[in-house]
Amino acid sequence: MTIPNVTEYKQDMNAGSTLIRNDKTGGFLTCAPLWAQKCGTMNYPRGLCADINSNFKISKAFSPAVQRCGSYMDLVIVLDGSNSIWPWGPVQDFLKKLTGSLDIGPKKTQVSIVQYGEDARFEFKLNAFKTTAEAEQFAENIKQKQGRETNTAQGINFARENAFSPQNGGRPKATKVMVVVTDGESHDRAKLPEAILECEKERIVRFGIAVLGYYNREQINPENLIKEIKSIASDPKEKHFFNVSSEAALIEIASTLKERIIGIEGTSNKNEDNFLLEMAQVGFSAHFVPSQDVLMLGAVGAYDWAGTTVHKSSDKITIFEKKVFQDILQDRNDSSYLGKL
Ligand code: CA
Repeated sequence: MTIPNVTEYKQDMNAGSTLIRNDKTGGFLTCAPLWAQKCGTMNYPRGLCADINSNFKISKAFSPAVQRCGSYMDLVIVLDGSNSIWPWGPVQDFLKKLTGSLDIGPKKTQVSIVQYGEDARFEFKLNAFKTTAEAEQFAENIKQKQGRETNTAQGINFARENAFSPQNGGRPKATKVMVVVTDGESHDRAKLPEAILECEKERIVRFGIAVLGYYNREQINPENLIKEIKSIASDPKEKHFFNVSSEAALIEIASTLKERIIGIEGTSNKNEDNFLLEMAQVGFSAHFVPSQDVLMLGAVGAYDWAGTTVHKSSDKITIFEKKVFQDILQDRNDSSYLGKL
């Protein structure tokens, strides 16, 4: 039993805990309510069911609660474009790989890139692109801004004040994430603690990436650079701070960085908008309605364990919204386990 294009966690999935006969096919339906989708480091027990035919072959597995990971997020990349970054090609490769691995769209992840040196400017805003392909294509063609100074605090302030603002496509309820990529100690480091504090107040999760290429080429001790970029990164530092030996090595951290970015959701921002079906446990119970060719599935963990039911016909799956049951429910504590049919 497997769902394509999803990172699965199948240990303890309790396959077979729900088992019902399918008179129509002569086979049966089995569910694994604790089958989980892995997003970053988190496992979400969304639940999975599969039709098994009379020869004990799995004919089709389905998981109605599966969603793309990290779906409602505003991500701003704050990119150092100062002269010391060289060569630029690997930076473009990194931007292409990172943006290309995210699910970008107006209702999913939005990405903006801000490039800075002496000052900061937009390469593109959060609402600039409607698809991953558009953003990826633009990102890989970004030119180096250049600059003799590296004003990282200014770059961070510009991103916080402008890039996340609703006028530029920021969504107030989205998880805010900033990725700072730089290769040198900042010229405005005195302003850095305040810039970081302001981000902290606005709950912007920050990743810091120190590119040691210039320091290594010039044989400069990178200790202070590492310390500075670590101070920018959110806690715990080991999850939010990266250093790479050269520009060319940036590409190697792109997928780990992506995993950590999409893993943020569900841990730091457990609000209604993005915590609906993560724990759904679809298939906790199941019931066929043969006369209507309909399958009903219980999903006890949906909506913070209020629970819901899934209605599946041959051509359509409907997951009932929480409000559908609001007038029926006697239990106002929102922990009714409604999906236990
Ligand atoms: Ca520099």
